[in-house]
Amino acid sequence: MSYNYKDILAELRRQGYKITPQRRAIIQILDSNTIFLTPQEILQTTHNHPGKFSLVTIYRTLTMLEKAGLVCRLNNEFDGASYSLRRTHNHHHHLVCSDCRLAVNIEDCNLEELEKRVSKNTNFIVDSHMLEFSGICPECQAKREQSDGRKQIS
Ligand SMILES: [Zn+2]
Ligand SMILES: [Zn+2]
Ligand SMILES: [Zn+2]
Repeated sequence: MSYNYKDILAELRRQGYKITPQRRAIIQILDSNTIFLTPQEILQTTHNHPGKFSLVTIYRTLTMLEKAGLVCRLNNEFDGASYSLRRTHNHHHHLVCSDCRLAVNIEDCNLEELEKRVSKNTNFIVDSHMLEFSGICPECQAKREQSDGRKQIS
């Protein structure tokens, strides 16, 4: 099961959040993009929507959506955090293409054993983990090969 725009509005109402035009617009922007967006990029897209937007509005909305469990966050070391709608209820990780930023959900996480070991070695109660994969998607691999080929010819 995955969330769409309407599910998200319904879930926010269920959790007691108000749906302001700004919040609605930000959810629409996230919904129409498959890649993770930084708050700055979301702000750049808001001129297509009525109402006033600031980076603060966007950060607040993203924080709210994250608390409500409706967005996923990536922590990129260069661009800072970026966000996408949470498309699945299941525990998952993300694999992101470094060239085109295509993101794929990875649902087969088997880190339970590692968590147990870490917990045993440190006496911590381990209750969560974060893991991000990065790489080059098949399409970008093909593009890279093409441009390498061109370089060799010239
Ligand atoms: Zn996700
Ligand atoms: Zn790619
Ligand atoms: Zn996991």
